[in-house]
Amino acid sequence: MLAAIACLLIVTLCYAALCAGSPFGRCRKCHGFGFATTTDRKGRPRRGKDCRRCKATGYRIRIGRHLYNLAAALHRDGTN
Ligand SMILES: [Zn+2]
Repeated sequence: MLAAIACLLIVTLCYAALCAGSPFGRCRKCHGFGFATTTDRKGRPRRGKDCRRCKATGYRIRIGRHLYNLAAALHRDGTN
């Protein structure tokens, strides 16, 4: 049981470090391309529509970082 808790703690810490180090992850919808990929009639890959999910940046803010931003904002509001 203790090992499970330690494991969970390590995972959480790694995730926190990941969020701190690289707050943006690749967009899961477009895999970081920023646009959808389609294939033409000959089967060659073509650039499709811009990804609406990441606004064509190809990056998405990590949920952990988003939570951190929220917490930081709350802290800021609370201390001022
Ligand atoms: Zn995207």
